[in-house]
Amino acid sequence: MDLSYGPEYDAFREEVRSFLSSHWPPKGKEAEQDFLAQAIHFRRTAIEAGYLARAIPKAYGGSEQASDPLKAQIIREELGRAKAPGDPGGIGTMMLVPTLLEKGEEWQKQKFVPGTVLGELSWCQGYSEPGSGSDLASLKTRGELDGDEWVINGQKIWTSGAVHADYMFCLVRTEPDAGKHAGISYLLIDMKQEGIDVRPLRQMNGSAHFNEVFLTDVRTPKDWIVGQRGEGWIVSRTTLKHERNSIGNASMVEATFKGLVRLARESKIDGRPAIEDPAIRQRLATIEGYVQAHKYSGFRQLTHQLRGEDAGLIGLMNKLHSTNINQEVSKLAFDLIGDDAMLDPEGGGGLMGVAPKGAEGWINLFMSSLGVAIAGGTANIQRNVIGERGLGLPRDAYAQQSR
Ligand SMILES: Cc1cc2nc3c(=O)[nH]c(=O)nc-3n(C[C@H](O)[C@H](O)[C@H](O)COP(=O)(O)OP(=O)(O)OC[C@H]3O[C@@H](n4cnc5c(N)ncnc54)[C@H](O)[C@@H]3O)c2cc1C
Repeated sequence: MDLSYGPEYDAFREEVRSFLSSHWPPKGKEAEQDFLAQAIHFRRTAIEAGYLARAIPKAYGGSEQASDPLKAQIIREELGRAKAPGDPGGIGTMMLVPTLLEKGEEWQKQKFVPGTVLGELSWCQGYSEPGSGSDLASLKTRGELDGDEWVINGQKIWTSGAVHADYMFCLVRTEPDAGKHAGISYLLIDMKQEGIDVRPLRQMNGSAHFNEVFLTDVRTPKDWIVGQRGEGWIVSRTTLKHERNSIGNASMVEATFKGLVRLARESKIDGRPAIEDPAIRQRLATIEGYVQAHKYSGFRQLTHQLRGEDAGLIGLMNKLHSTNINQEVSKLAFDLIGDDAMLDPEGGGGLMGVAPKGAEGWINLFMSSLGVAIAGGTANIQRNVIGERGLGLPRDAYAQQSR
């Protein structure tokens, strides 16, 4: 089997390397700026060269390249090797931008997409409320029109990154007399205004990634609505699809699995590398089987997308697989680090796509792996939908109202 990329891609890799050697790390005046300013400057240059924001049209600040997963992979690898900033990732780039490209007005795309893909604008997602998580359509935050502005009152919860966010995309009940799903609109809100009270929630890993957000007479212009009045539920499905795709991304699972294999080489059992222990090898081989299956399932999803076909439930299944594998990886890491598992976690996000370094990082990943299985719709809800829509099982009466 030929596992090389081939001459065309080898040449492309050289091109990317040469670009990086001229542009990262920053030199001269650029090197004196803070990291965010350096990253924004670098992204601007990399977009002009066609290496970042590849799927975003030029009209909205992207580089509008033909889809090429191998080139994208080479760019990721080379940016990683050079420790250069990639696309900003996160809620804005992975969820809001694709939603605006699909459902937004022309002026909304022009106003919000370019700054978001550069990392100048950050977003948070105002969906969940106390009592409205899986049953999201029961949300109660209200929006009323007052002249040319919406006035919004209510409370959101589990709002990731709200402390730093410039804007929120928010589900709000604007048609109180319409049915549960039909009464919701999708509004964009400036977070830096009076009436917004963000209260961080401390998590078991010590960090405060989530927040409660209280909205009291918060105002947003009438046309900062994505889709029509009362169509917010449909728009929110688009965002959720992209949220699940970003969690279900196979390369993130591969990265943490590689970290696990490294940990198994470095850890000792009875004075010998843990990776030589038959029971550990067996567990590693089992997880690697899942990782590979997940990777090829990701290729199936990508193939459908490239052909412009609906990937059906594959995205949902990939999200479920990826969070399950992430938990298996973390559990084995816990067994390998032994008594060190009682240390304090490192804090921070515990991101799936980043292989932790020390024991504290693995503890953090373990704790965070529980949350990732809940974000974007819980594992149980994914199973319900796969069972009902994929396998044709009868519908659960309660689940009919849920996400
Ligand atoms: C890491 C993380 C990040 C998040 N970020 C955000 C964010 O930025 N913005 C935002 O709006 N929200 C965010 N959330 C919230 C997330 O969307 C909700 O936690 C999730 O939808 C579940 O809602 P809930 O917590 O109210 O749990 P509930 O809906 O109360 O569920 C509790 C339990 O009951 C089960 N359950 C509920 N209904 C059913 C059913 N019909 N069938 C079977 N089982 C069921 C669930 O699976 C779960 O195990 C985040 C959550 C996490 C963990």
